Amino acid sequence: MSERAVSDDLMKTIVSLCKRRGFVFQSSDIYGGLKSAYDYGPLGIELKRNLMNEWWRAMVHSREDVVGLDASIVMHTKVWEASGHLAGFRDPLVDCQVCKERFRADKAPKLAAGEPAPMAFADKGRAKAALAALEQAGETGLTRSKKAIRGAVGSERGYVCPNCGSPFLSAERAFNLMFRSSIGPVDPMGDIAAFIEGGDLPAGTELRARLEELIRPSAVYLRPETAQAMFVQFLNIQQSMGLKVPFGIAQMGKSFRNEITVEHFTFRSCEFEQMEMEFFCEPGTDDTWLDYWKQARMEWWQKFANDPDKFRLRAHEPDELAHYAKGCYDIEYLYPWGWGELEGVANRTDYDLQKHAKYSGSKLEYFDPVERKRYTPFVIEPAAGATRGVLTYLVDAYFEEEVVTQKGTDVRTVLKLHPQLAPIKVAVMPLVKKNGMPEKAREVVESFFQRGINAKYDAQHAIGKRYRRHDEVGTPWCLTIDGQTMEDGTITLRDRDTMEQRRISIDNAVHEIEQLLRD
Ligand code: ATP
Repeated sequence: MSERAVSDDLMKTIVSLCKRRGFVFQSSDIYGGLKSAYDYGPLGIELKRNLMNEWWRAMVHSREDVVGLDASIVMHTKVWEASGHLAGFRDPLVDCQVCKERFRADKAPKLAAGEPAPMAFADKGRAKAALAALEQAGETGLTRSKKAIRGAVGSERGYVCPNCGSPFLSAERAFNLMFRSSIGPVDPMGDIAAFIEGGDLPAGTELRARLEELIRPSAVYLRPETAQAMFVQFLNIQQSMGLKVPFGIAQMGKSFRNEITVEHFTFRSCEFEQMEMEFFCEPGTDDTWLDYWKQARMEWWQKFANDPDKFRLRAHEPDELAHYAKGCYDIEYLYPWGWGELEGVANRTDYDLQKHAKYSGSKLEYFDPVERKRYTPFVIEPAAGATRGVLTYLVDAYFEEEVVTQKGTDVRTVLKLHPQLAPIKVAVMPLVKKNGMPEKAREVVESFFQRGINAKYDAQHAIGKRYRRHDEVGTPWCLTIDGQTMEDGTITLRDRDTMEQRRISIDNAVHEIEQLLRD
């Protein structure tokens, strides 16, 4: 068996496998799909749950110093004023004047002023049309060579269009990433209609400001991160549980961002899930805790990976740091398109507690009963993407392998998901659908169910095909009931990764799989 280089376009292959095998579907598929929203199918939800359960186990259930929270998605609007999201959670947006791509300025490829801008298009026709439009707009000194346009140079902006490489860009415009809705019995549309009917409308920005005023009293926002609830509930949790600093509050759940650039399948979507923890510690111990958490989180991601070397820790450059952060590391993964963030581990200082104290009027402080001193704790925040984590492990687990068969060689697709993450732990298969084998197989499945292990009865198609089907969805073990089982009570245990088979006692099957899951 030799490992084959995976397909050139790995992402396309994974997206197609996700749909074909029930991991992830485009939302509202039959209506043409909703851009940037995804549904996790029968196997996807198992994988996502397993990942999130592992996170909860590592962050909450294996520690005495971290407790959980499940907060509401819609919170008081003051929360977002205090956190700065209402005013500041904006992305600078830019339109390319050549290819019309709309993109985030802070994510665009960098190009210094005066450097040659490598403009390139999908085909000659598009390049020709782009050159004609630029010349018509008064640009000079440009020439075309096949699909490329030469002669353009980087501007003072320091970046170019990520799609065509053009430095001909619109001004930057701010755009709020939070989804707005309204709450309460009064529909703001009624107030807006009455205002318009009243006539004598102000113009431009004044009109917009007046409309905003009408909307504001009932406006609420879908949370763009889970973190703020942990700051807002800091005192309630600390006091109700009698917690002593240092301690952490963990939460997993949905977050929503009206992202402009949605990209790479579920990597960046508008609705996604996060796994975040705020760790409150005494000022002065924060650097040590940042080191501790960045290491612990890195090791956690690597533990479930086939290729731990594709994960790295990257310290933020000083000009990259959020204004409130004292230090920050990104845990990055080498995706098929390059390195990308999977989790951020930041030292947020006492910024958030101070802000919420100021806006709410509550004293968000801690009294140390031993030292008899009062202070505002500093916060270390490991903030991970759960849905991004699912995509990461799908990429990490995807292999195509050349295998030798009776008819020659063949290629098998196998998802080498960590057994703890695999959606189905064990497939139980009667070799043929007769001679009492299906009944025996169902008994075995039932015994797994009783132990809380997700087993699957599978009798469809020839046995070889069934093995392949389970390789493709990452089932680590298959158990086959055959003629010999009926005689001597043994069954075949097949391993997904090595494809090796051995006979074990049917009575020992559950124990054996439990043991393998623990290893
Ligand atoms: P990015 O730089 O990719 O926009 P971010 O720095 O804004 O991410 P954080 O606010 O630190 O992200 O959120 C923590 C984690 O949540 C990220 O590391 C990522 O895994 C996940 N995440 C953030 N935005 C999205 C999104 N739009 N879709 C999926 N996951 C996301």
